[in-house]
Amino acid sequence: MCGNLLTHVNYRGLSQRLSFGEVCGNYQIMKIAWYGKHFGEEPPICGNETQGAGTIFFSGCNLRCVFCQNYQISQQNLGREVSVEELADMMIELQNKNAATIDLVTPTIWWREIKEGIALAKEKGLRLPIVWNSNAFESVEIIKKMTGFVDIYLPDFKYGDNVCARKYSGIENYVETAIAAIAEMQKQVGDLEIGENGVAKKGVIIRHLILPSNIESSLSVLNIIAEKFPQIPVSLMRQYFPLHLASNFEEINRKVSEAEFQVVFERLIELKLDNGWVQEADSEEIFVPDFTKVNPFQK
Ligand code: SF4
Repeated sequence: MCGNLLTHVNYRGLSQRLSFGEVCGNYQIMKIAWYGKHFGEEPPICGNETQGAGTIFFSGCNLRCVFCQNYQISQQNLGREVSVEELADMMIELQNKNAATIDLVTPTIWWREIKEGIALAKEKGLRLPIVWNSNAFESVEIIKKMTGFVDIYLPDFKYGDNVCARKYSGIENYVETAIAAIAEMQKQVGDLEIGENGVAKKGVIIRHLILPSNIESSLSVLNIIAEKFPQIPVSLMRQYFPLHLASNFEEINRKVSEAEFQVVFERLIELKLDNGWVQEADSEEIFVPDFTKVNPFQK
């Protein structure tokens, strides 16, 4: 096992419309909830201990997960409206602060504005790798449209079972959609390539967050990855904590047990998906970002 142990990876953010990423309803103008250097992502996204990922948390999301850790911004629309120019300036500011990457968290519904923002930032001198940190519920068309704009795809393959996806995120056909999106991501940017400085230059990393009482769904995710994307590194997350509406679902109203984690971890090893990262056990308090604060990640 390649042993990079992550601590809290606050890799989620944002939500609304149950589509593959088109904007409608309350989300006509791009909103951003927070941007800054963030050290909870995978090592090739964060770089060294002084760099961090230059993370931009977009408001809104195309899913409405009942357990969303970032529900304040994904489902309650917290954030401020920003223009494409401001977005480009944020990217430049993060680069000037020595961030390792530009990490776009839950970007899907804002793909048009983000494309423009990246183009503008590049005109202004942006040279950092761009990370698309999404939930994998995206159309192939949208991923194709990001060709040449995104260097690293970081999809969270959330469910291996459409029943779970329907129950907890209110969507249909998640599994097929995610497989098609990830296949397109891989086709577009190829294998993960890490530079001498330890920062990813391009490629795909698949995340998966284990949910309590839904271990079969996790095993199915791993089986699919082993079958279809065996060369993509996996980042296995165990930070689940019942938040938002999770208390309405008794079976997910608790943390993942050690026994549950072990079953999934053993399958990861069995399938030889051992070239990624596993989040370390978090026996103490779970840190949950509070986006009503100036710095949501400050305790
Ligand atoms: S957990 Fe679900 S609702 Fe929350 S940001 Fe991620 S995909 Fe969106």
